[in-house]
Amino acid sequence: MTAHRIRAVRSTNAGIRVVEQDEPPGEGVEVVMATASICGSDLGFIAMGPLSFVLGHELAGWVDGRPVAIEPRLWCGECEECAIGATQRCTRETRVIGCFSDGGMADVFRVPRTALVPLPESLSVTNACLVEPIAVALHALRQGRVAPGMAVGVVGGGAVGLAVVACLRSIGVTAIVEARHPHQRAAVERLGGVNAKVRDADVVIEATGADSGVERSVAGVRPGGRVVIAGLFHGPVPVPGLPMLAKEVELVGSMMYGRHGTTREIDEAATLLAAHPDIADALITHRFPLSEAPRAFAAAADRSGGAIKVVVDAE
Ligand SMILES: [Zn+2]
Ligand SMILES: [Zn+2]
Repeated sequence: MTAHRIRAVRSTNAGIRVVEQDEPPGEGVEVVMATASICGSDLGFIAMGPLSFVLGHELAGWVDGRPVAIEPRLWCGECEECAIGATQRCTRETRVIGCFSDGGMADVFRVPRTALVPLPESLSVTNACLVEPIAVALHALRQGRVAPGMAVGVVGGGAVGLAVVACLRSIGVTAIVEARHPHQRAAVERLGGVNAKVRDADVVIEATGADSGVERSVAGVRPGGRVVIAGLFHGPVPVPGLPMLAKEVELVGSMMYGRHGTTREIDEAATLLAAHPDIADALITHRFPLSEAPRAFAAAADRSGGAIKVVVDAE
């Protein structure tokens, strides 16, 4: 009997490589990968050099023939944060699939059954890796307590910023967006946003993860408004002091997604993506087969080269 080897994408001494291993990465139910998309956070991880874990947290695949997306943040279900539905703030379980523990950019991977997100019938599994970043955007808007009728600005035209634009459109809010690259500005328009300087916004979503993005967000919010930090900062978040104090800006952190009541935000994201297939058309700019994962990561890193979301497909 010949063992079936599993191909998995890792950051190695030689860069991104597709490496074979005997067992699927992770623990739990087996998922046959369909698609995995590359996140800005993945690019941050691989800049650290060789990593001990298989990459990939934006995932979709098949479990026993049923299409699913994956909620990568694991949680205990027993702590005070889990009790109120804030599973993203779970104090006992801090693992995230594909972020310093094994992810799913592999032929087959394993996850706890609770991480499975069944897909609405009209959502293609080939686009469902985007359910995860859409959930990030929905949660950022919830953290900003955004409601229809508000003026909302978005600083940053990467995948998170654009996902926020799409989520705002779904509640009838036209986002004002500061995006750097021409292809990002084109996507803003496709998703119903307006490219302009953010001024006097009730809420600004910081979606760059860069120092200058925080400064622009505070500059663009109205007195008494809110800035949601949705970009990923590993170090300090440098807030310009006097403008923040003078306007009494409320700064709110946002990390991944959780639940409100019994509803998972990631299920809401799947519903939203199913209802608006043009979101995937606007966000997915590149596709590569798993065997060409090194090229996929190179394309994702080249922001000026037109990449928004780069997707790795099963072959
Ligand atoms: Zn991500
Ligand atoms: Zn917990």
